[in-house]
Amino acid sequence: MTGDSTRSVHEAEPYDEETGALVTPIFETSTFGFTKAADVRPAMAGERGYVYSRWDNPTVVRLEKKLAAFEKGGDGAAFGSGMAAISTTVFSLIQKGSHVVGIRDLYGGTYALLSSLLPRLGIETTLVDTTDLDEMARAVRKNTKAVLIETPTNPTLKLVDIPKVAKLAHGVGAALLVDNTFASPINQTPISLGADVVLHSATKYLNGHADVVAGMAVASEKKAHDIKMMRREFGGTLDPLPAWLVLRGMKTMAVRVKQQNVNAQALAEFLSTHRKVKTVNYPGLKTHPQYALAKRQMKGFGGMLSLDLRGGMQDAMRFTESLKVASLAASLGGVETLVSQPALMTHTQMSAKERERTGIPDTLVRVSVGIEDADDLVSDFEQALSAV
Ligand code: PLP
Repeated sequence: MTGDSTRSVHEAEPYDEETGALVTPIFETSTFGFTKAADVRPAMAGERGYVYSRWDNPTVVRLEKKLAAFEKGGDGAAFGSGMAAISTTVFSLIQKGSHVVGIRDLYGGTYALLSSLLPRLGIETTLVDTTDLDEMARAVRKNTKAVLIETPTNPTLKLVDIPKVAKLAHGVGAALLVDNTFASPINQTPISLGADVVLHSATKYLNGHADVVAGMAVASEKKAHDIKMMRREFGGTLDPLPAWLVLRGMKTMAVRVKQQNVNAQALAEFLSTHRKVKTVNYPGLKTHPQYALAKRQMKGFGGMLSLDLRGGMQDAMRFTESLKVASLAASLGGVETLVSQPALMTHTQMSAKERERTGIPDTLVRVSVGIEDADDLVSDFEQALSAV
């Protein structure tokens, strides 16, 4: 099995041993019974069998193995949300006196973790300019335990050079954590580029149907084990039913993501020629300042783009409410096209000045391109632009 579509369908999903069920069963049970007391000890030690579903569950384990194979890691850990995956992973790596480095263009919840929560607990953090590797090189130090990046970033679609940051992190013995939510493993596999942990909001492309909130971490077997041990204590384990939904969603992951790549490219090219659009941020456009890096580290350019409209906040609001195929909603990565206006929705905690500095003007509109027909999307965006 080498092709992404074949692997999406079959990877880590053997027939059920007992019944031959083709589809992974939902083991919706909180606990597991023992008929032999001698089996308790190896189960408690994690050698064989299951004990309690906050620790491990067969349906959840299938999902963890499936994503680990896609992300080229040793094992995975599934969580009740992307934020649970991110925070638990960070806590599995730090102790008193640790330092954590991140980029400024982090997802809001992750930004809050690094800029506010960790410092409140006495953990030092440094946030650096997303594309300035010199600033990153100056930021890492002996007690840096984790470097946390996203690439492409939300909603600015900036890229971070994964192999170069991996080298900087490893130079001081820190782990490189890459939030791969925007790219999905179909378009980018950070571990093969030097990252130590890959993080996902599985709510997005992995599940792909906007009907589950879930998160994942993938790492070497040893690091994944440490993350799972921390998960036992923090308790953010994913329940078997949503794990099963993500497994089902992942069967079409390659097909969906490849179509989203095609649609996003078509939409980005159309928008970049429109007189009412100032700029389009999409790594697949030759005009993207990091197009060469995108070609180097991504297998596909993804389904996310953002556009900066001419005019003001009201014009952007008029545009988003005029769309008929696309919906105005937070979140991303589903089969349906969604648009959001970060200054109004996801980035309200940032001051207008800070937003401007990060490249998020009031007129920026983020698009999560779905699997609809590209022509329908282009027509929809054209008619909404004419309403502005
Ligand atoms: N990382 C990225 C890049 C995101 O966009 C999000 C959510 O939008 C998260 C993490 C958090 O994921 P969740 O909402 O599943 O907790």
